[in-house]
Amino acid sequence: MYCPRCGQPRLQHHAHHEYHCQCGFHYFHNVAAAVAALILLGDELLVVRRARDPGKGLLDFPGGFVDPGETLEQALCRELGEELALTVTPEQLHWFGSESNLYPYDGIQYHTCDGYFLLELTTRPQLASQDDISDHHWTPWHQLQEADFAFDSSRRALRRLQRARAK
Ligand SMILES: [Zn+2]
Repeated sequence: MYCPRCGQPRLQHHAHHEYHCQCGFHYFHNVAAAVAALILLGDELLVVRRARDPGKGLLDFPGGFVDPGETLEQALCRELGEELALTVTPEQLHWFGSESNLYPYDGIQYHTCDGYFLLELTTRPQLASQDDISDHHWTPWHQLQEADFAFDSSRRALRRLQRARAK
């Protein structure tokens, strides 16, 4: 692997997520932060279909990676605007929980920590599927199947929501 400091192909795996170069540089392949929204309208939950790999064609919850300098809430509001043209304020989001995930991209496995927020709507919004999603639909939460989802974190979040709502 090429070293981002000296530019030489001398970056070698050291331990866990740590890489060392002969120039003295230590690189940490840290966990990336991501966010997703569980958007409920009564008994219906909003799911999106992924337009790109990983998981192209499979279901997901809207969201994405946190940009440098953003809070989780800011990242999720930005992503909901980009993917669905949905305008949401951080105050509308309620913390649901986090799940760890593996995100394969360009041959590298990224470890992520995905934060899930609940967003309960009272009226059906006008949505547009754009950016990295190809489609969206509202489905009763109890009819959604884990196997149709792209990521383990989404499957676990769905399971938790289904358990919480079934009570
Ligand atoms: Zn180096």
